[in-house]
Amino acid sequence: MIIKTDPDIIKGYFEDYSGLLGGYADKVILPENEKEARDILLEASAKKIPVTISGGGTGVTGARIPFGGWVIATERLNKIIEINDKTLTATLQSGVRLTELENELSKKGLTYLPDPTEPNAFLGGTISTNASGAKGFKYGPTRNYIKRLKILMSTGDTINIKRGDYFINTGAIFPLRLKDKEIKIKIPDYSMPEIKTAAGYYIKNHMDLLDLFIGHEGTLGLILEADVALGKKPEGIMSFFSFFLSEDDAISFVKDAKTYKAMSLEYMDANSLSLLRTKYPNIPKCAKGLIYFEQDYKKEFESEIVDSWTKLLEKHNALMEDSYFADSDKERAKLKELRHALPDAVNEIVKKNKMPKVGTDIAVPDKCFKEMLKFYKEKLAFSGIDYVVFGHIGESHMHVNMLPKTEEEFKKSRLTYMEFVKKAVALGGTVSAEHGIGKLKHPFLEIMYGKANLKQMALLKKSLDPSCILGLDNIFPKELLTQILQ
Ligand SMILES: Cc1cc2nc3c(=O)[nH]c(=O)nc-3n(C[C@H](O)[C@H](O)[C@H](O)COP(=O)(O)OP(=O)(O)OC[C@H]3O[C@@H](n4cnc5c(N)ncnc54)[C@H](O)[C@@H]3O)c2cc1C
Repeated sequence: MIIKTDPDIIKGYFEDYSGLLGGYADKVILPENEKEARDILLEASAKKIPVTISGGGTGVTGARIPFGGWVIATERLNKIIEINDKTLTATLQSGVRLTELENELSKKGLTYLPDPTEPNAFLGGTISTNASGAKGFKYGPTRNYIKRLKILMSTGDTINIKRGDYFINTGAIFPLRLKDKEIKIKIPDYSMPEIKTAAGYYIKNHMDLLDLFIGHEGTLGLILEADVALGKKPEGIMSFFSFFLSEDDAISFVKDAKTYKAMSLEYMDANSLSLLRTKYPNIPKCAKGLIYFEQDYKKEFESEIVDSWTKLLEKHNALMEDSYFADSDKERAKLKELRHALPDAVNEIVKKNKMPKVGTDIAVPDKCFKEMLKFYKEKLAFSGIDYVVFGHIGESHMHVNMLPKTEEEFKKSRLTYMEFVKKAVALGGTVSAEHGIGKLKHPFLEIMYGKANLKQMALLKKSLDPSCILGLDNIFPKELLTQILQ
């Protein structure tokens, strides 16, 4: 076990991609096995020392940033235990980096289908946030691929559960049998929206207990190990970068495209394209929107598939001559680079402005998407703040990134964000579709679920982490725990 205390070395663990500042901890501990991790948690529980679990640090909500206590960093729990190409299952420790996993899988012609976009994330971090990637349109989030989890509780007990082992009902008390005791978990009774969501604990009637531990943001236990479902690498993947003359054309294309079997359906607005044009001047000047999509295919159907997409693009007035198409790994990598250039360009503006961006992660039911987009555009135009809108249009899930230049604009951006949240919740949407709540979105989760339901979340946490030391201030304010402890 490695213990780091040098402030210059451990400060890297006090940040992620949220821009949240001020994190601190006494030490960062890197356990190398289950026993070491258990010893740390038992000592921390006995002394009531807060523990923050750290994965790859690519989160965007401040969830891995500690405010006191100890950090358990998982980078030494990084074994790929088994890749089984018969059962299409991998057994992995939680500190495995996605990029390393994908490298190993591709040697065997396999892939991890949810493919959360940021390759430096760790498996444990992606399970803990229920991350999803660009291919979420076809494959859904991480949750759909988790077959088993081994979780170390702050009490030192281990929960080792497979999908299908236990089912739980909302509002019920679930007796969970551990090795030498039973704990009672009070399951909340709120209802989640029936759309892609990563806001708060996953709660559904007659749900699999395993799902409770996916998307818990490091608050219920340390994920040690997981069995994940794998897929076979498709024979071919084609990527399209299709520009449109108007936003309406792009949106009506998406409506039709949803009935096709694309892997991803992603969007960039006119402001995103303007930003990218500084680095990629060939982006057509008249383009007001981009739809980026990928399609997996069998070689024998390649030309048929290209034909049907071409017809659909023409029907919706896509700029055919100026759009990009790639069907080789090399060409697709170039398009991927172009897609990734947007977050980089946003980060450069953030640095130049010396002001954090205010980025949303809201999704709404498909039938309300147009209304929500119109609301975004009206409020953003009124605010006068620079912004870009991009994201997972196939799932009615957009990221609005507001780019304030002054303190005053920053405050205005937060107020505008609150207006978006209220509108989305009124439409039956979620305040976080993939990034989670972390330490930055408590007020938004309260609007979505109400204080009483946040208290239910706190009670649930307490039943699994009785000394209340894990991931404090993630999902709900830690003061709620103090209130229920009184
Ligand atoms: C450029 C960029 C693009 C991104 N694109 C996407 C995207 O398309 N989709 C998406 O969903 N996200 C995206 N993200 C966000 C981020 O990659 C995900 O949230 C990812 O799941 C975080 O994983 P991590 O290992 O970095 O976790 P960290 O940031 O280290 O931690 C995140 C949370 O997980 C907890 N945690 C970590 N490991 C464990 C463990 N072993 N046991 C229990 N809890 C644990 C932490 O305590 C914390 O609460 C993006 C980020 C960047 C920077």
